[in-house]
Amino acid sequence: MAVSSAPDRSAPAVTLRIGAERVTAGSGGVYAHINPATGRSDGDVPLAGPPEVDRAVQVAQEAFQAWRLTPPSERRRLLVRLADLIEENSAEFARRGTLDNGTPSAVVAGMVATSVEWTRYYAGWADKLSGEVTANLATDGHFSYTLAQPYGVIGIIITWNGPLISLAMKIPAAVAAGNTVVVKPSELTPYSGELFADLVEQAGFPAGVVNILPGDPAAGAALVEHPLVKKVTFTGGPSTAKKILASCAEQMKPAVLELGGKSANIVFADADLDLACGHGTLMSVGVLSGQGCAFPTRMLVQDSIYDEVVSRVAQIAKSFTVGDPFDPGVTAGPVVNKAALDRILGMIEQAKLDGARLVAGGARLEGELADGYFIEPTVFADVDPQSTLAQTEVFGPVLSIIPFSTEEEAVAIANSTSYGLSAYISTKDLRRALRVSEELVAGEVMVNGTANLAASRPFGGFGISGMGKEGGREGLEEFLRIKGVGITC
Ligand code: NAD
Repeated sequence: MAVSSAPDRSAPAVTLRIGAERVTAGSGGVYAHINPATGRSDGDVPLAGPPEVDRAVQVAQEAFQAWRLTPPSERRRLLVRLADLIEENSAEFARRGTLDNGTPSAVVAGMVATSVEWTRYYAGWADKLSGEVTANLATDGHFSYTLAQPYGVIGIIITWNGPLISLAMKIPAAVAAGNTVVVKPSELTPYSGELFADLVEQAGFPAGVVNILPGDPAAGAALVEHPLVKKVTFTGGPSTAKKILASCAEQMKPAVLELGGKSANIVFADADLDLACGHGTLMSVGVLSGQGCAFPTRMLVQDSIYDEVVSRVAQIAKSFTVGDPFDPGVTAGPVVNKAALDRILGMIEQAKLDGARLVAGGARLEGELADGYFIEPTVFADVDPQSTLAQTEVFGPVLSIIPFSTEEEAVAIANSTSYGLSAYISTKDLRRALRVSEELVAGEVMVNGTANLAASRPFGGFGISGMGKEGGREGLEEFLRIKGVGITC
């Protein structure tokens, strides 16, 4: 294994952050965090249980009374300061992201920069919240207007694949709008959240505005059920999402659900093939080892360029270096844990049985890396669009390539899953790009390698990919409720 010059692999201490308190033990017990690159435990994490969740919600509710009346310019100032502090701590966030889940430090560094942008973007919204006049006295006989107001305490539950970026996509928008938050990060990835909580405190936010408590699923369920939590925003898997939605239904509580995807990447014959093959391979089986919700995991390729694209993509996948995520030369690290490893390898075996043609990868890494959860970047060609591999999110480094002949057929295949998170198009014909973008059933469409997760562009899926938006004005509006006021004078 190529190892860079003695990176600091020490795991930081983790606490439950309730108001100004740092609680070192929780009623949820202790989670022995496993480093996925070694398969060995590197630290004990205290877990919140329902009593700590209740205390955090009470603290957040108390803080809300003052926070909702804090001048918007002050909320903006604090968020700008937080963004600056995240940026100043980029190297430590990159280190912690690698410790958290094995993402290569260079990849985490890019995600830190994106998190800074999201925090700055929503800082800018804090003093631009407004309602509108809906009726005038002279013409309507009464005066009416709307107020955009915060909900109160927001319950935030996130998963493990982007522990910092998931915080940055939710917390700044929620607090810019005047809410307070109780956050339950994934128990698998506690280290980034601890530093985020430190920086919130350092920025000068009043205690209780942002509370962060690692906890297990029972803590998450307690947060969703708490009657003082007025809205839930969740990022994770569909089975958890269904439980959350059912629990919210009991209290008519709204929820934003950011879930998985099986995003189509349509490569037309006129595409820039260097760009399409490079982007399509890196984003599906390189970056994050395929563990990204919006990644282009179904590559649909027009038949006249099919053989060439399959050959190019296989070569690119084989060129990726998989290994120690602290090594700056590494493209992809391990997958998150043993359960994920076994699930992904099982799906690879099933795809072979179902007749897909393996053209790259397909196996767990052996030798020096055998104790970690490393899987070769894996590419299947000739995948049946209705097969399990084409219809199900793998959340691992596995790409499916599917041929098509006409634009109509490509759109039909792209829209043939129950997901609808993202979609991708590669073509030099912008009229076609516009036309196909309108036809695709997906919450976002990226043309010719446009980068994901711009703070100003709403993100959020259709179908079983979820509901609600993060990013843009729409992402802010998820944290505001509208009140209409009518006055007869
Ligand atoms: P998961 O659903 O198992 O867990 C996510 C979080 O929910 C964790 O914090 C967990 O402790 C908590 N949780 C579990 N059970 C709960 C319950 N009953 N009540 C409340 N909270 C509970 O996560 P996963 O399935 O391993 O995450 C991966 C999934 O996340 C993939 O499908 C991926 O596509 C999706 N994802 C989506 C986005 C997006 O923005 N759309 C981003 C990243 C990941």
